[in-house]
Amino acid sequence: MSDTVAFDAMRDALRGAERLLLVTHEHPDGDALGSLIGMHGVLTALGKDAVMFVAPEEFPLPYEYDWLEHHDIVTTVPADAAERTIVFLDCGSIDRNPADGVRCPGATLLNIDHHHDNTRFGTLNLVVEDASCTAEIVWTLAHALDVGLTRRVAEALYVGLITDTGRFMYENTGAPAHEMAAELIEAGVDVAFVYRRVYEGWPEPKLHLVARALSRTERFGDGRLTFAHLFADDFAQTAALDSHTEGIVDMLRSVDGTKVAGLARQHSGTAAGQWKVSLRASDDDIDVSAIARAGGGGGHRAAAGFTTALGPAELAAFLDEQIAAQQS
Ligand code: 5GP
Ligand code: MN
Repeated sequence: MSDTVAFDAMRDALRGAERLLLVTHEHPDGDALGSLIGMHGVLTALGKDAVMFVAPEEFPLPYEYDWLEHHDIVTTVPADAAERTIVFLDCGSIDRNPADGVRCPGATLLNIDHHHDNTRFGTLNLVVEDASCTAEIVWTLAHALDVGLTRRVAEALYVGLITDTGRFMYENTGAPAHEMAAELIEAGVDVAFVYRRVYEGWPEPKLHLVARALSRTERFGDGRLTFAHLFADDFAQTAALDSHTEGIVDMLRSVDGTKVAGLARQHSGTAAGQWKVSLRASDDDIDVSAIARAGGGGGHRAAAGFTTALGPAELAAFLDEQIAAQQS
């Protein structure tokens, strides 16, 4: 851990709190849900009254994660939220949590995250930029709090670990990620079972959505930008959900010559005329979080996103200009 003072302060704040409310970012991914459920298990093991909140519109959870035991996540903000210590997991900024109810004036906010552009909105901030995932920070906190890992906690943390490291293949994968994996397997994670649930079991509509995205893929700037877009109609006609876009942008990145891959889509969750954009960088030459920030969003150097009113053609031009500016 890079900042022992922040780490010790966070450990002590968690140990000292009795009632807590745990939240994560909108459209929760594997690390969001993994760190949320993992932290909840750790706090519960310490005898704390800890409640997990996820907004009702996020349900059902994406099929990749809905097998994680989550029956105790609540979808209404508890009435006593203002008196609870609020723990934000994997949230780069407070705006990425859609629950207005958790913005309690005067409440203690504990911000635990690994996004380098985290806005440090907490009363206490533990932002570990070199942690592979927020689940890794939760794992380290579990050790510091002397909590053994149950199988449920281990599975949740493992999902955060494999999804944020691209199954141990991205640059953020260091020895700690593998040490953590070894320990989680010791605690009961069934690796092949998790693989099948997270990476296989595609709903058929996803297959058809992926086909449309691939057929609408374009290259710009001699191939340095590989870009696809999906209209709301693509989702309607294939009966696919927005969460079924997971993984498409990573396929685009794997095309030879690509520096940046982008996927823009309109779906039921985006406002009229708005496009949700996911960006991925193929190496350290380009920082896509800077491009996403220029578009009003954020993220990591290699994976970032934003929402824009620019249509596909203008958006591709904007992205290619941004890439060119970073290369010059
Ligand atoms: P994804 O493309 O998988 O949705 O997101 C990749 C990364 O970018 C994640 O770390 C996510 O937190 C971040 N990200 C995606 N969309 C946004 C956004 O609209 N705003 C911010 N600040 N970060 C985003
Ligand atoms: Mn994460």
